[in-house]
Amino acid sequence: MPDFFSWQNQLERCSESDVMHALECAKPGIGELSALLSPAADRFLPQLAARSRDLTLQRFGRTTQLYAPVYLSNFCTNRCVYCGFSATNKIDRKALTLDEAEKEAEILYRRGFRHILLVSGESDAIIDVSYLENLAKRLCSRFASLSIEVQPLSTEAYRRLFAAGITAVAVYQETYDRELYKELHPAGKKRDYDFRLDTPDRAAAVGMREIGIGALLGLSNWRAEGMALGYHLNSLRRRFWQTNFSVSFPRLRPAAGAFAPLTEVNLKNLSQLIFALRIFDPDVGLIVSTREEAAFRDGMLGLGPTRYSAGSSTAPGGYGNPELNGEQFSVGDHRSLPEMAAVIRSKGFDPVCKDWDASFQESTLS
Ligand code: SF4
Repeated sequence: MPDFFSWQNQLERCSESDVMHALECAKPGIGELSALLSPAADRFLPQLAARSRDLTLQRFGRTTQLYAPVYLSNFCTNRCVYCGFSATNKIDRKALTLDEAEKEAEILYRRGFRHILLVSGESDAIIDVSYLENLAKRLCSRFASLSIEVQPLSTEAYRRLFAAGITAVAVYQETYDRELYKELHPAGKKRDYDFRLDTPDRAAAVGMREIGIGALLGLSNWRAEGMALGYHLNSLRRRFWQTNFSVSFPRLRPAAGAFAPLTEVNLKNLSQLIFALRIFDPDVGLIVSTREEAAFRDGMLGLGPTRYSAGSSTAPGGYGNPELNGEQFSVGDHRSLPEMAAVIRSKGFDPVCKDWDASFQESTLS
């Protein structure tokens, strides 16, 4: 991964003619991505949106996938200064038993979800590989797709989870700015930047169907984070050409600990980032979660994102008991799955709760 600040220099050097070239380029590379993310591209946002919309329609049709997270535990041994689950925060801590986790998933199943994301704070002592393996075995016959967003694991652990029915792994680098990363992760295993950066490789190596990467927006320069994301994605694609990839764009939200963003990322910036990544990689899944407000999510339909979360709770046990505290961050869009699906339909798109079936997986395993 090149030095973070070299991206910033590259971005500053881009001109408007570089942007126009990038918008017309059939196969954009890192040079074109820098033009699309540069300050020079700010005034071309409508053109970026149009190109991104055309590519999204061409590659994904009118579909928008919907999913929901199940928070398994908010115990965490790390001290990420921006996160409500940080070990230093005094919040109500809870870890779901396997039965409780299955019940939460069952609530989502009854609401219509067939794709769920199992999320937890990073604590090997609370949510370990055996727990995830057992939970996956209980859930995989009900759900078309099970993803995890938990602590980085070993290759062997990912192999076990894949065999148990987990098909996707999301792990966000948070910031690709190595120096800032050290400051924001003062203690815990997460301090190891390189181990985290290599996590997608370990997960892809065992055959996971999809790998999600992302940067937490509001920590460092968003344009340079976009460059690093594109570079990371490119290098993964070259080595794991059979794997699907997705990119998420979480912006910092209010959370316990009251961490204030270090840098502003406004909705225009977020849109530019999404459009630039779509133009750079027409096949990548782009995810916008319920961190964002309804108006923004609705406005982005069809323009680049391919997957939205809906009806989310970010507290362990929060679906069965909505009064529970201990959430990771506050949610910006509270609409339910049917409400979200209705909006998607009203704009001429198709809400999709299942786009995969385990039988595809079994046929590759047997
Ligand atoms: S961001 Fe993840 S690792 Fe860091 S404190 Fe929050 S839950 Fe733990």
